[in-house]
Amino acid sequence: PARPELVALQHADVARLLPAPAAESDKYRRGVVGVAAGSARYPGAAVLAVSGALRGGAGAVRYVGPAGQAVIARFPETLVSDRGPRQAGRVQAWVVGPGAGDDAATVAEVLEADVPVLLDADGLRLADREAVRRRTAPTLMTPHAGEAAALLGVDRERVEAARLASARELAARYRATVLLKGSTTLVADPSGGPVRVNPTGTPWLATAGSGDVLSGLAGSLLAAGLPALDAGSVAAYLHGLAGRFAAQGAPVGAHDVAEAIPRAWRSVR
Ligand code: AMP
Ligand code: MG
Repeated sequence: PARPELVALQHADVARLLPAPAAESDKYRRGVVGVAAGSARYPGAAVLAVSGALRGGAGAVRYVGPAGQAVIARFPETLVSDRGPRQAGRVQAWVVGPGAGDDAATVAEVLEADVPVLLDADGLRLADREAVRRRTAPTLMTPHAGEAAALLGVDRERVEAARLASARELAARYRATVLLKGSTTLVADPSGGPVRVNPTGTPWLATAGSGDVLSGLAGSLLAAGLPALDAGSVAAYLHGLAGRFAAQGAPVGAHDVAEAIPRAWRSVR
């Protein structure tokens, strides 16, 4: 039989993939996720990305960028660094881009790291395509339709009308795993294998900062050791469930979604 083009993510698959600390784990073995996000203009994006990362399974979250004070005020467990990504210390996966403004140098520096990198938001716009293509460690890109359209040089309507083909095309062009966000989230692997569809989303997730939470969550799963396709799929699945648990039919903010991640996690276990 022909291989399916699309496969729906199943509860049991996600349960099997969730990282769990071994008895002898320490925080470094669980993984350190670096978050390079936020700007003077958008400090909240840094806070929200960290809020997702703290609940994604890594043992520690390291923050680099101009929003360190805002991050530490909300999340005192964050390791805040005043250096650039290259000098920040041990990091097993990076999240770069949410609210990053025009800081292209930080994006370029992160892309040179020999660890998995999640590229989102401004990071998608600022990244040099060749720099992404020549990476040897995995790259996970998390565009919404508008960002995907800008990367492909087409209209947003084109992407919306051909979401599967767009996700695949981006994955091939950037040699990256692509998580295309929206009412149905797709995760496409650069190998061209079946694309995963997340069934858990809710339109209550269509709220400012929601994508920043997802970025941190997925980055943390990368730091915990999941391959990019699995990290993206599991993050989308948990994020959707967290949105449902947080909202329960009423409007919520992105920080509410982040706070519901542990409940989503427990419901899958
Ligand atoms: P962003 O556009 O970066 O803020 O990310 C928005 C988040 O909300 C992504 O995880 C989307 O998949 C999710 N989202 C947005 N609209 C919907 C929708 N109509 N149904 C389900 N999820 C959505
Ligand atoms: Mg976004």
